[in-house]
Amino acid sequence: MSTAAGQKRIALIAHDNQKPQLLDWAKAHRNLLARHRLWGTETTGNPLAKRLRLDVSKVGSGPLGGDLEIGAMIARGEIDILVFFWDPLEAQPNDPDVRALLRVAAVWNVPTAGNRSTADLMFSSPLLEKELHRKVPDYSRYRWEDVDHDEVLEHD
Ligand code: PGA
Repeated sequence: MSTAAGQKRIALIAHDNQKPQLLDWAKAHRNLLARHRLWGTETTGNPLAKRLRLDVSKVGSGPLGGDLEIGAMIARGEIDILVFFWDPLEAQPNDPDVRALLRVAAVWNVPTAGNRSTADLMFSSPLLEKELHRKVPDYSRYRWEDVDHDEVLEHD
């Protein structure tokens, strides 16, 4: 899934109470957003596509597994930026999925905006239009190649 230099793959998600905020924010940055490749969970993505005429690829609705789909894309290196306006005032049935998504975004050092002011800062950065050199931590000690196979097999 390659993109033009400087073009970012951006995931957009908002909890229900935050959807008006996200829509309003996206309206303010519509032309900038339109230059990038966008994904959204279903009920966040639909109004962005319909009302702002943005080309948004959709995964399932967040509570039905869409957050995890975006998380899987992050784990595969397919998302450069996560904009997720989560609701700080209301418990969500998909809270475990939300935690998993935010966790995997932190694991892979994906820039994540959890509220409008962070998203505004992110979208006023000159780096948005440049090629992003995101430092990914070295996880080799977690990987099988670094495990002492003989030691593991001894315990079989
Ligand atoms: P939605 O999902 O865009 O399908 O409403 C958002 C969420 O709750 O994660």
